[in-house]
Amino acid sequence: MSCDSVDRREVSQTVNDNSNGNGVFTSSRPFLVSQRLQLSPNTEHIPDNYDDLQLEFSPSVFRSLERYLPPNLLSVSRDVKVQYIREILARYLPEGERFQKLRRYRQQIISRYQPLHRELYTLNPGKFFAPSFIKAVSGNTEESLRSIISEPSPGIYTFEMLQPSFCELLLSEVENFEKWVNETKIKIMHPNSMTSYGAVLDDFGLETMLDKLMEDFICPISRVFFPEVGGFTLDSHHGFVVHYGKDWAVDLGLHVDDSEVTLNVCLGNQFSGGEQYFGGIRCDKHMNTRIEPEETLDYSQVPGKAVLYHGHHRHGARATTAGHRINLILWCRSSVFREMKEYQKKNSSWCEWCQHEKKERQLQSVSATKLELFKMEESRV
Ligand SMILES: [Zn+2]
Repeated sequence: MSCDSVDRREVSQTVNDNSNGNGVFTSSRPFLVSQRLQLSPNTEHIPDNYDDLQLEFSPSVFRSLERYLPPNLLSVSRDVKVQYIREILARYLPEGERFQKLRRYRQQIISRYQPLHRELYTLNPGKFFAPSFIKAVSGNTEESLRSIISEPSPGIYTFEMLQPSFCELLLSEVENFEKWVNETKIKIMHPNSMTSYGAVLDDFGLETMLDKLMEDFICPISRVFFPEVGGFTLDSHHGFVVHYGKDWAVDLGLHVDDSEVTLNVCLGNQFSGGEQYFGGIRCDKHMNTRIEPEETLDYSQVPGKAVLYHGHHRHGARATTAGHRINLILWCRSSVFREMKEYQKKNSSWCEWCQHEKKERQLQSVSATKLELFKMEESRV
């Protein structure tokens, strides 16, 4: 098995470093103007059921996208809707062949790798999560979420999430997988274009568990805190772990993720340093603009504690100066948001620099108007 032939397209975009290997962000794909979704869903419409079909995406993706179909398509046959939605989704898939290769690659690993802790492969909230986290999410209101979530800087949310026993089990499963990879000399794919020390959890069987974790526990939070990037429509993910330390990655430069919302949880082990630092939310166009003083934050990682942020919130990791640190990272994506993004012409409502420029333009136009008025007054005198 070789990873050379599979292009995973899991790409972090580095800031101020466009030479980073395959560090080309995937937002510039062509799209067909004729096939579009509506900007807002038809909430009265009751979507069809797609559970019995063999599709590349989960049936729930088809159900949620059906509400965004153009009005004339809401009442057509299910087959026509499937065709239409599939063609739109195909733009977000690695092209057919690549996708098939990725499936085959995962199948080959899953058919040969013997999991150590089978209980990790099915989501079990009572065993995985801190009781306060379960209570806050099941409360399902902004108030219940705020009761456990801190916001040390705007747009960065931290909360107790994972039980120490779950962190230990996951670390031991990852260790077991990596040992198996070494023994069998299987060549595995790196988690993304910036990280070679780590493993993709989805590749060895944890995909379904992580999907459920995203759907039942991250969506309810993102719906409240990240509506501007489709936080309520997250429907796919990329889940991996990364090792930091002297023998692994020491630090990580400033970058953005290929995600709408990122969940990052330290799983532990003994370490010093390794703070995560942040530098403001930017769209692709403004990636390399300066960091304003009020945008900086250094966050000290605590095992079991999660950090949740906008995928385009620029961030990096300071040097892990001693020991070994492992983090679980879940890039959560929304196909609806990615479709909508194609509509955006100039400004991103969520990019702090776009907003800064917009304010500047408004100020300029106000002073130009004032100047005009002043001249008119003068000419009258
Ligand atoms: Zn911008």
